[in-house]
Amino acid sequence: MKKTKSNGQPLVAKTQGKGGNVGKPPSEIPQGNKDPVSKNSSSPSKPITKKGQKAQKEERVSKILAILQRLYPDARCALEYETPVQLLVATILSAQCTDVRVNMVTPGLYKRYPDAKAFARANPSELETLIQSTGFFRNKAANIIACCQELVAVHGGLVPKTIEELVPLAGVGRKTANVVLGNAFGVPGITVDTHVGRLSRRMGLTQETQPVKVETELMEQIPQPLWTIFSHRMIYHGRQVCDAKKPRCGSCALAPICPQTGVEKRGMPC
Ligand code: SF4
Repeated sequence: MKKTKSNGQPLVAKTQGKGGNVGKPPSEIPQGNKDPVSKNSSSPSKPITKKGQKAQKEERVSKILAILQRLYPDARCALEYETPVQLLVATILSAQCTDVRVNMVTPGLYKRYPDAKAFARANPSELETLIQSTGFFRNKAANIIACCQELVAVHGGLVPKTIEELVPLAGVGRKTANVVLGNAFGVPGITVDTHVGRLSRRMGLTQETQPVKVETELMEQIPQPLWTIFSHRMIYHGRQVCDAKKPRCGSCALAPICPQTGVEKRGMPC
């Protein structure tokens, strides 16, 4: 992923929001004991209070974060882009499509349409042809054109830097908005895609299935400066270890602290 400037719009901005850890780099955020512990480490003879349960949960989350950090220290957005507009377009294209496939299409696309103005003026049929291999190409082409027309008409051809301004754009939901905010502007955001949702439920971080509810629960548990990198690390772990159909719990570093909620043990390598 290249990070450059374009059209006077910097790709990375200072982190924003509330919370005591805001603005601190991940290395300065307390991660707790980095060694995995047994799921049954507390004494069974002592009744656990609500306060104790909360402390246990926080400790477990810290350990999950520490293990993910150790496993994927350099996790990053897999989409190739050089400007916020390009990342926005690539993220719209990535719906129901692999990042690898999107990266095969975007070099030619960025060359043909170098900025929001060019995308806004695109001929729908030509754009559809260029992005056809990413699937759902008619909808995606219509959304990209409409989205960029809104960027030109309302935001001076630049990508806005708040979720409130991003979500109303054509083809942009919270997931896309958080990808753009986190990776183009450095504004922390939790991206709940299929991997993040599945892993969060298996790890016992949430029982919710609706992405927006999962996002809300994760925001309460994960320190804000880590939201973006946490999303990347969960996606990496989902792709490499915690597969949707065949999670490799037997060789997973998180196994000692993961309740493996919803994982079917029989017939699985757990
Ligand atoms: S222990 Fe199993 S369910 Fe838990 S994160 Fe690892 S692979 Fe996924």
